[in-house]
Amino acid sequence: MEESRETLFVELAKLCEKLSETSRRLEKIRIIVEFLKGLRKEEIGPAVLLIVGEIFPEVSSKTLEIGYATISRILETPPQAPLFKKPLTILNVAEYFEKIARASGSRSRENKELVLRSMLERASELETKYIVKNIFGEMQHGVGEGVMLEAIARASGSSLDLVRRALMFSGNLGKVAEVALTSGEEGLRRIGLTLFNPVKPMLAQMVYSVKEVFKYHTNVAFEYKFDGARVQIHKKNGSVRIFSRRLTDVTISIPEIVDEAVNGVSAEEAILDGEVIAVGVNGRPLPFQDLMRRFTKVKNIEEEMKRIPLKLYVFDVIYLNGRQLIDEPYSQRWSMLEEIGRKVSLAPRIVTSSISEAEEFVKKALEEGHEGVVAKALNSPYVPGTRGRMWLKLKAADHLDLVVIGAQWGYGRRTGWLSDYFLAALDEETGSYEIVGKTFKGLTDEEFEEMTSRLLELKIREEENTVWVKPEIVVEVAYSEIQRSPRYKSGFALRFARITRIRSDKAPSEADTLKRVRELYEGQKKRKGFLEQEY
Ligand code: AMP
Repeated sequence: MEESRETLFVELAKLCEKLSETSRRLEKIRIIVEFLKGLRKEEIGPAVLLIVGEIFPEVSSKTLEIGYATISRILETPPQAPLFKKPLTILNVAEYFEKIARASGSRSRENKELVLRSMLERASELETKYIVKNIFGEMQHGVGEGVMLEAIARASGSSLDLVRRALMFSGNLGKVAEVALTSGEEGLRRIGLTLFNPVKPMLAQMVYSVKEVFKYHTNVAFEYKFDGARVQIHKKNGSVRIFSRRLTDVTISIPEIVDEAVNGVSAEEAILDGEVIAVGVNGRPLPFQDLMRRFTKVKNIEEEMKRIPLKLYVFDVIYLNGRQLIDEPYSQRWSMLEEIGRKVSLAPRIVTSSISEAEEFVKKALEEGHEGVVAKALNSPYVPGTRGRMWLKLKAADHLDLVVIGAQWGYGRRTGWLSDYFLAALDEETGSYEIVGKTFKGLTDEEFEEMTSRLLELKIREEENTVWVKPEIVVEVAYSEIQRSPRYKSGFALRFARITRIRSDKAPSEADTLKRVRELYEGQKKRKGFLEQEY
């Protein structure tokens, strides 16, 4: 039988054009189905990711790290088109992107630019348009994960629920599409929970008070919320692999946790869910940044182990001795965890229906330097990859009043709005406003709309995707932590910043100062642990 030819990338670009020409969801699905059916097996995964503008699957930690400046430099000095242009195929484009992500080391920027140049040399104007859109993840044709899941279900004749479930487990839309189209429902069913195949962790929705927790659930446990890194531990007798929240294998970087799992977990086979934190010399948790160093190190690990000691807290078991437990209620899973985890630390927790008791518990968690609590419904199954109401996180948010000095144009649902804001504190010494964070979180659609028109009136200049404005609008910002960061001149960056109010009652001169940010940072350091020596 004759091998079908590789599909050209221009076909995918044309498909994206067609998708942006119709606003009808069913029509979009119909054209995608037709396209998917014409692809070769190995093209399905990359094509699906390129259509939705993901490039790499959600669970992958690969990044391109190509900025707007690089792209405009390339586009301003048009590549010298070779005499004979070999047309790009979908697989070629995926390979180029892989190469860009792989370029590392001291000359990585130049190398990434070179690879991108060679790809664009072979691209037509239309293809360039969609390559660039992919790099910025802004496809603007209204096809996100939801539409794509439906298209995959239709194209493969599988049930949408099954397709969704497979994505929940694997976190890889491309892989789900390939399996669905080549092995149908039977193949999809095989994407499930098996040892040494990580699944996406269950997540929690944010609440702001204990009372709110009880609005949703009456039978609930409160566990400490650690400010650490999620770990999924897979154990089969003496062998253990540990995966991060993004399902990267981090086993090699954290040997002491491997030892703990081997020696401390009394089960032949288990998949455990938990959190690893770093502890300072005073026994209190260290800031997140210090912990991240441990998770990315693959060399000099012994030395790092001494400098940044880790501690494991386990809070769930989702597989035990051949049995999948995700459909068991949380209370049941916790009992099993208590059985097998006598020699490891489980998350401190209480089960209570008393508001005051729960509030006391939150206070204790915070006093001990943790981030807050996670409330878990006792009857909750373990739903991989979802952020539902069965788990609720409650953190102590700190607030700052900051000034918006710039904003970036949004994409996707926020197209047409200036929706990503640079937040600045007043430097009293110089009278200037210095950026300490950035967020697109917290505003309603109406507020985005209002902000956009107000910001445009205050515009000083526009560059690339950013509109810089006169410091005028004050917003109240909740955040979880102030970090030291070289990203902004101020030297600080807020973690998990979110606008809680537009403070039209405040003038920019009344905004919080850089001095205040520094003080809060120092205070936070006292609450947190510290390292023997700063680096
Ligand atoms: P967030 O990252 O703010 O969405 O909060 C969810 C994260 O909290 C999870 O991914 C875990 O890494 C972390 N976490 C800390 N303690 C717990 C806990 N006891 N139960 C569940 N998640 C926890």
